[in-house]
Amino acid sequence: MQVVLVSPEGEVADPDSPVLHADDLGIVHGDGLFETMLVREGRVCGLDRHLARLTAAAPVAGLPAPDPGRIEAMVRTGVREWRSVHAGEGMLRLVYTRGREHDPSGDPTLYLTIAPVPDRVESARRHGVRALTLPTAYQPGLAATSPWLLSGVKSLSYAANIAALRHVRGLGVDDAIFVSASGTVLEGPRSTVVAVIDGALVTPPRDDGVLPGTTQDALFELAESEGIGTDQRPLTVTEVYSADEVWLLSSVTLAARVRELDGRACGAGSVIDVADLVHRSAGS
Ligand code: PLP
Repeated sequence: MQVVLVSPEGEVADPDSPVLHADDLGIVHGDGLFETMLVREGRVCGLDRHLARLTAAAPVAGLPAPDPGRIEAMVRTGVREWRSVHAGEGMLRLVYTRGREHDPSGDPTLYLTIAPVPDRVESARRHGVRALTLPTAYQPGLAATSPWLLSGVKSLSYAANIAALRHVRGLGVDDAIFVSASGTVLEGPRSTVVAVIDGALVTPPRDDGVLPGTTQDALFELAESEGIGTDQRPLTVTEVYSADEVWLLSSVTLAARVRELDGRACGAGSVIDVADLVHRSAGS
């Protein structure tokens, strides 16, 4: 199997060997955090941004601060092994759980895997995606008043996101965009929404409970350095329908243009080459 496993002990292990105990709270309650990163040309794209997001999320999830030195050593070990077994891109998943329910040490569990990038990624990069908007009960501002909802945190409790993807795929499209109770666009189940409107890049505000995307962050930093306007503000679905372009950004796929949303063709060919900017910024 072309999967690399770096065990909680920080060693390359047989990917078929068990890593978790039956009482690990990551499994029992989905209680923990994860990060998914792209391994490309022997390095991890945006590692510092991912570590910063994990570190910021830990207190929100009530977890001890992760040890960046330990994680960096595990990442180095994993990437070295990956290069020796696979020439192409890899998807690195770092898992950080609350640890065992019945372990008096209370230590969190930390391990990582690197696997080949799923086939759907190349198609989404090349051909874009068809998407549907999905309603949610999320009220703008809820993230601030109800931090226990863990919105804006990359929590292991991800089953609803995957169920959303399964739902839209069952309806014959590739991806989804969540919409708040007040009709504003939030994010994809595993991506950040960026629209090109009037020659600027626009994304929903981070305090609206969306995950702070590392790909969007790197894109906006590069875009601003090249004089391209950026904005974080509420976006209505109607605005997104009529945007010059709509993109779904994420660490592994990088940039997928939404070519159709709710059955309507989306704009194509804006003045900004979003895919090029995202691919260039992903190295930063
Ligand atoms: N929003 C959600 C809900 C996600 O799960 C992800 C990534 O998996 C993103 C946004 C994009 O984040 P990033 O660019 O850091 O991969």
